[in-house]
Amino acid sequence: MKLFNFLQQQGHEQIVYCHDRVTGLRAIIAIHDTTLGPALGGCRMWKYDNEQQALEDALRLARGMTYKASLAGLFLGGGKSVIFADPKQDKNPELLQSFGRFVDSLAGRYITAQDVSITTADIVEIRKATANVVGLPTEAGGSGDPSPMTALGVYNGIKASVRHRLQRDSVKGVRVAIQGCGSVGSKLAELLHRDQARLIVSDIDANSAQRIADDYGAQTVANDKIIATDVDVFSPCALGGIIDDDTVGQLQAKIIAGGANNQLAIEDKHGDMLRERKILYAPDYVINAGGLISVSYELDWLKKPTATVKDKVEAIYDTLLKIYQRADRSGESTHETSNRMAEERITNHTTDGTANAS
Ligand code: NAD
Repeated sequence: MKLFNFLQQQGHEQIVYCHDRVTGLRAIIAIHDTTLGPALGGCRMWKYDNEQQALEDALRLARGMTYKASLAGLFLGGGKSVIFADPKQDKNPELLQSFGRFVDSLAGRYITAQDVSITTADIVEIRKATANVVGLPTEAGGSGDPSPMTALGVYNGIKASVRHRLQRDSVKGVRVAIQGCGSVGSKLAELLHRDQARLIVSDIDANSAQRIADDYGAQTVANDKIIATDVDVFSPCALGGIIDDDTVGQLQAKIIAGGANNQLAIEDKHGDMLRERKILYAPDYVINAGGLISVSYELDWLKKPTATVKDKVEAIYDTLLKIYQRADRSGESTHETSNRMAEERITNHTTDGTANAS
């Protein structure tokens, strides 16, 4: 990879390679864009096959965080970090604290948080070395589990999508298939059940799916059948990359709106294929921003809108409607349109930080 060419094309500001002789830490912190505010994004620990893979993951995820914060109306930029290590064997308090010291050395340009293989207990460990971390448990003064706010955002996103695609103001009687009955999927099911939506659920863990069936009268289906189920809304709340060459043709739903990250295997290609099939796609980073909004409120020094966390999460409804209306006018995919809108907020940002705080 010609790195500077890539950075110029993708707009990243900074890459920090971190190495600690004592703890053996090998980490990469990628800062994509700090126009709107400090770069916030989780830390992922993963046994990558090679350094190139670790770098590419950090760069891709950092850029995604810029877009997410922008359309969530936050005064935050995008960043992400990866620790190149095996979480099962290599994780220890010294390693995490040494990562925290590197985060601290950036003096607030980057704020870290939880991601794959980093738990809230790990966040408490990192916090010993830096104040630039969010996602602390409530007992440590943090905002606690972000998944209820993520689910609330997804619920509002489904309602906006139903309004736009099915011209209905309520989800009563709307058939929603939820893939993944974990933290987000189960709370989403509860909210939809209250509104009398008809739920169909699946999970690789049959007990998790059965719990939702028992609690909310949902029907369960085999995990490999859920994508092709005849429903109004397909809500991926488990894995990324779920919309690919194989699955896009199987979909019967008119709407895809769920909490999972990176739902489109190849963003532009599969975003376009969904548009061609007239399937309304709620861009994942827009609809699942509730967790980010929730943890960002831990930063008491951050310039925040006057809205409460809940108001801000519920505003995902309006943001999605704006994306859908604009995509209809331009003929572009909703994915492309949301990227453009995220970039515009950054481009139009004024130095006093007052413009465009939705
Ligand atoms: P979770 O681990 O609590 O739940 C995931 C569920 O999906 C589990 O029940 C698991 O058994 C199931 N699952 C795993 N692989 C599956 C498969 N192949 N098919 C069907 N089910 C499968 O995770 P979560 O916190 O609910 O997050 C769900 C998704 O939402 C993830 O993609 C996550 O990155 C994304 N997300 C979560 C948050 C949050 O606040 N938790 C915020 C933003 C995005």
